[in-house]
Amino acid sequence: MPPKVKEESCTGCGRCEDICPAGVYELVDKKPNVKDPDECTECGACVDNCAVEAIVLE
Ligand code: SF4
Ligand code: SF4
Repeated sequence: MPPKVKEESCTGCGRCEDICPAGVYELVDKKPNVKDPDECTECGACVDNCAVEAIVLE
C-alpha cells in the first residue's frame, strides 16, 4: 500500500519528497501530497527519515 501522511503530525520539512527515490511525493503548500502512489516500492525510506513519524505504510 502507498504511504499515508498524518497531516496533524507533519511539519512540512520536505524530507520525504527529497528522499523518495520513486518521486511519489510533491510538496503542496508545504505539505507532502502523495501524487504517484502507484510508483511506491514500499522501500520504507520516507518512514525511516520522517523525524516526527508522520508517515505510515500499511
Ligand atoms: S518528512 Fe515527515 S514531517 Fe517532513 S514533510 Fe515528510 S511527512 Fe512531513
Ligand atoms: S516507501 Fe519508498 S518509494 Fe514509497 S513513498 Fe516512501 S520513500 Fe517513496
